Amino acid sequence: MNKEGKLIEQYDGNMIRCPRIGGDVNFLFCRTENNMLPCRWIVNCWKGRLDIRTFLEGHYTQKELGQVFTEPKPKVESLVRLVEKAKRD
Ligand code: SF4
Repeated sequence: MNKEGKLIEQYDGNMIRCPRIGGDVNFLFCRTENNMLPCRWIVNCWKGRLDIRTFLEGHYTQKELGQVFTEPKPKVESLVRLVEKAKRD
């Protein structure tokens, strides 16, 4: 429950057509499919259907939201960093 007394499950039964999967999914899926964090497309998909920004701000820390909405590093860049780190250590 967040500070406004809203349960994280409040919208779980709401259904939407998922452009990634090509079928219907519920909000529970959208808020957990990213290693138990929300899908990174959740704002675009759910805006206009529910107050998605208030939901996210009310139930997730800034750190969690940062994890969700930060662009993943390209694999090559990550590999280069790993190699550089291995050389240093
Ligand atoms: S938020 Fe993600 S999982 Fe949910 S409908 Fe949109 S793309 Fe699909």
